[in-house]
Amino acid sequence: MTTLSVFGAQWGDEGKGKIIDRLADRVDVVVRYQGGANAGHTVIVGNEKYVLHLIPSGILHKGRVNMIGGGVAIDPIKLLEEVDGLLERGVAVTPENLRVCASAHVIFEHHKRIDGLAEVWRGAGRIGTTGRGIGPAYADKTARTGLRISDLLDADRFQARMTAALAEKNALIQKVHGEPALELGDQVERYLALGERLRPFVGDTGAELRRAHRAGKRILFEGAQGLMLDIDHGTYPYVTSSNTGTGGIANGAGFPPNKIDRAWGIAKAYCTRVGEGPFPTELFDADGDAIRKAGKEFGTTTGRPRRAGWFDAVAVRYALELCGADGWIATKLDILDAVDEIKVGVAYRVGDQRYTEYPAHLPNIEGVEVEYETYPGWSDDLSGVRRWEDLPEVVRSYVDELERLVGVPIVMLSVGPERDSVIERNKG
Ligand code: GDP
Repeated sequence: MTTLSVFGAQWGDEGKGKIIDRLADRVDVVVRYQGGANAGHTVIVGNEKYVLHLIPSGILHKGRVNMIGGGVAIDPIKLLEEVDGLLERGVAVTPENLRVCASAHVIFEHHKRIDGLAEVWRGAGRIGTTGRGIGPAYADKTARTGLRISDLLDADRFQARMTAALAEKNALIQKVHGEPALELGDQVERYLALGERLRPFVGDTGAELRRAHRAGKRILFEGAQGLMLDIDHGTYPYVTSSNTGTGGIANGAGFPPNKIDRAWGIAKAYCTRVGEGPFPTELFDADGDAIRKAGKEFGTTTGRPRRAGWFDAVAVRYALELCGADGWIATKLDILDAVDEIKVGVAYRVGDQRYTEYPAHLPNIEGVEVEYETYPGWSDDLSGVRRWEDLPEVVRSYVDELERLVGVPIVMLSVGPERDSVIERNKG
């Protein structure tokens, strides 16, 4: 196996950062292919905690090449802050181990302004954006008015394109939202300077990646957010602006889809969601509070409390099927000792219609009723367990049930935030 796709199989925050960091040890190249700096992967190495927003987790391993593909929306300010933050902590970030795609779209100040302003206008229909300009930048990409990293590297071209872009955005900011316009000269100067700092890292990462593949290098595709937030296959419109699953790799990384050897999903042994939107197995009781507290379910980037609920086998089955997953990783199993009994959503109901396959066609899955199966809980601390045989029987049977309900082998279990807190299973 030389290429592996790893993606979130729920609504994000599945613990991808830690798993990807662990898997990064076994590969040569780690690639981000979608999303922006709204993803916040937390990686704990020894006593050090790193939160990575744009830079792939392979940066914490010596000798790995980390690529930010053309499908990522890049805020150059955030990217350089992240570079500087890593350098300050002694992590090497060089043009050799960090590559940035010239064709990735740039998130500008005006995108961030418009993101926040538009959300106010949506009122009750707000989508819970993180306000980082990612949605507006992707909207400009699709409208063919966006600017790319390569534009930042050519002053004349940038001046011309930014003049046109900002004329329209300023009209929107002033005339629709009644806010002060951005000053063109400031913006041009600021972003050209950022472009200069980025220049050594910029290249055609798609070509570099395909070359690496031809040379037999092992490649890991690092998904951000989760499949249920996919722009096409998630709970639209409460989704992110890109294709989060394995399907996003071909375009977002410039890599042929038939060369992806294997795909693994990541899902928590329960479920959370940030922001608005349908969440069928959401808990509003003491169990929800207990899970949120034990799992420290507060956004790494935004600090927002996450909504918490039971594992939704219907949604995870759908996510894994859609991405052609050969296996999946169940994370945060250690958190479930916070509840007495564990439930798993096994089917949805609307009236007398029962759905065991995710009803992506329903305009509003918020109204579905969930059918649950109930399992006994445990009070054992699992965080020190490293072997399947050492897990209590009650935990093993819960994991076996998850595997049966989802129908895809669980290749690894995660029982703590640290790099080595996993149980490998030699499957998938
Ligand atoms: P990501 O965006 O999918 O990488 O997820 P986040 O980093 O936002 O959230 C995962 C959080 O859970 C981080 O704080 C991790 O350190 C932590 N974490 C990951 N796996 C486990 C686990 O198995 N058990 C526990 N207790 N914490 C975990």
